[in-house]
Amino acid sequence: MSNRDYYDILGVGRNASDDEIKAAFRKLARQYHPDVNKEPDAEEKFKEINEAYGVLSDKEKRARYDRFGREGLGNMGGFHDYTADFGDIFEELFGSFGFSTGRSSRRSPRRGRDLQMQVTLTFEEAVFGVEKEIEFQREETCSRCNGSGAEPGTTPLRCATCNGQGEVRQVRQTFLGQMVQTAPCPTCGGRGETIASPCKTCRGGGLERKTIRKKVQIPAGVDNGTQIRLAGEGGPGTLGGPNGSLFLALDVQPHRFFKRRENDIILNLDINVAQAALGAEIDVPTLDGDEKLKIPAGTQPGKVFTMRGKGVPYLRRKDRGNQLVIVNVAIPTKLTKEQRELFEKLAASLGTTVKPQEKGFLDWLNEALGG
Ligand SMILES: [Zn+2]
Ligand SMILES: [Zn+2]
Repeated sequence: MSNRDYYDILGVGRNASDDEIKAAFRKLARQYHPDVNKEPDAEEKFKEINEAYGVLSDKEKRARYDRFGREGLGNMGGFHDYTADFGDIFEELFGSFGFSTGRSSRRSPRRGRDLQMQVTLTFEEAVFGVEKEIEFQREETCSRCNGSGAEPGTTPLRCATCNGQGEVRQVRQTFLGQMVQTAPCPTCGGRGETIASPCKTCRGGGLERKTIRKKVQIPAGVDNGTQIRLAGEGGPGTLGGPNGSLFLALDVQPHRFFKRRENDIILNLDINVAQAALGAEIDVPTLDGDEKLKIPAGTQPGKVFTMRGKGVPYLRRKDRGNQLVIVNVAIPTKLTKEQRELFEKLAASLGTTVKPQEKGFLDWLNEALGG
């Protein structure tokens, strides 16, 4: 797949509205859909258009893409499966014009349903990755009737409504003239067969609900909202069609004191007045345990120290983000007698002049965090 800019692919400006993006997508999809366009590169083009639309039509993905480009999408871009959207768009584009797509006919394979479940991770599990056992319910081909829906020993009958075709034809009058549309047969649901003695396990549906337990490897560096696709773990396909996918939506629990900002860890740390004024070497908690950090003399509240490589691993890369330590100077609220005397001496020595501040705490913070 090319690395072209998603906005260029759809031919819209960077501040295009949702409606403009949708309209541009429709126009291009209609032009390049492989069922319509027989040029050799139409399919590749269509995929590209679809991928661009998948990102730009999703608020969160678009915002990430605007800020960080494709890199910023991480899992969200590559893993996403748009086939679910295909159906709608397809119907919208071609259905009403009576195109025969062949997809709704009973003879063509159909892809199984997609399933979704939420997986909760601790902060550390999301950072370093983990193997999780998940449990979910899935419909599978009935083991008693092998999916036919008929009780073993009996045979299904040819459907009288559609004469075994699985679909019925409807003639509609439209402003363009008479249109012939086909629809799945309402009696047999497209199977072309009706069942006289339904299977006792699935009651004729051909499917059986099962509880599945599975071990899943969650990669290091995932975050809240990351979606993981397990291809083939969704509902069963019919007539040789592929199984659907299982999508895992990750829910990451917050940490007691670490906060995440993309792949950086942010830690607010209290140091005391003496450490700020005189400088100190202190122990700072990191994801890898305590690490030494040198605080120079004269450190101001809000100063941010960067501990390189102490952040969250990047997905599909070897390196890690940084840990940003935001220093707060804690002013003591209770003083011992001795401390009080020392502060009084300090007060006398520092004098009573005050001066207006030119740069405030928030400026420091914004500067350090890059806006
Ligand atoms: Zn059955
Ligand atoms: Zn029928």
